[in-house]
Amino acid sequence: MDEKQCLFCRIARGEIPSKKVYEDSESFAFLDINPRNPGHVLVIPKKHVVTITEASEEDVSSLAKALRRVAIAAQKATNADGLSILQNNGHAAGQIVAHLHFHVIPRFSSEGPPSLEAVLQVKKFDEESMNRIASLISENAKGIGETAKPNTEKTEKESAAEGKKEEISFEF
Ligand SMILES: [Zn+2]
Repeated sequence: MDEKQCLFCRIARGEIPSKKVYEDSESFAFLDINPRNPGHVLVIPKKHVVTITEASEEDVSSLAKALRRVAIAAQKATNADGLSILQNNGHAAGQIVAHLHFHVIPRFSSEGPPSLEAVLQVKKFDEESMNRIASLISENAKGIGETAKPNTEKTEKESAAEGKKEEISFEF
């Protein structure tokens, strides 16, 4: 979906009304229309980008600043005991609107489960699998961020790291 049709782009442009809570030159934040708790806010970049892996480091840095501001404000406004910050990338992860967004959800001691992680079951992996996945992630992290536009200009390290995928089977 392009920027013209994208729901969140249209909200950021003011073409679709929203309950705006924060705006700066790069970011926009508004109440989720399906709140999980009072003060459930979505923080988005004004620029159309779908996932955090597609966004540039500059885009994410600007968004992180807005995210922190909104988190502080939402917690104060709701007198929450805690905050969950949640962000899904891709259909498999439960992303519904294809425009990068962070959920800021005020949390209260009286509610349960205590953590959103509780929706995913804890899985057991042997030492060898844990070591392998740790070294693969570490290997793939090398070189990322050394160019301003990692999607268009790749460093040698990035290109080298790209091929490093190993078949690891996770049983569910
Ligand atoms: Zn968009």
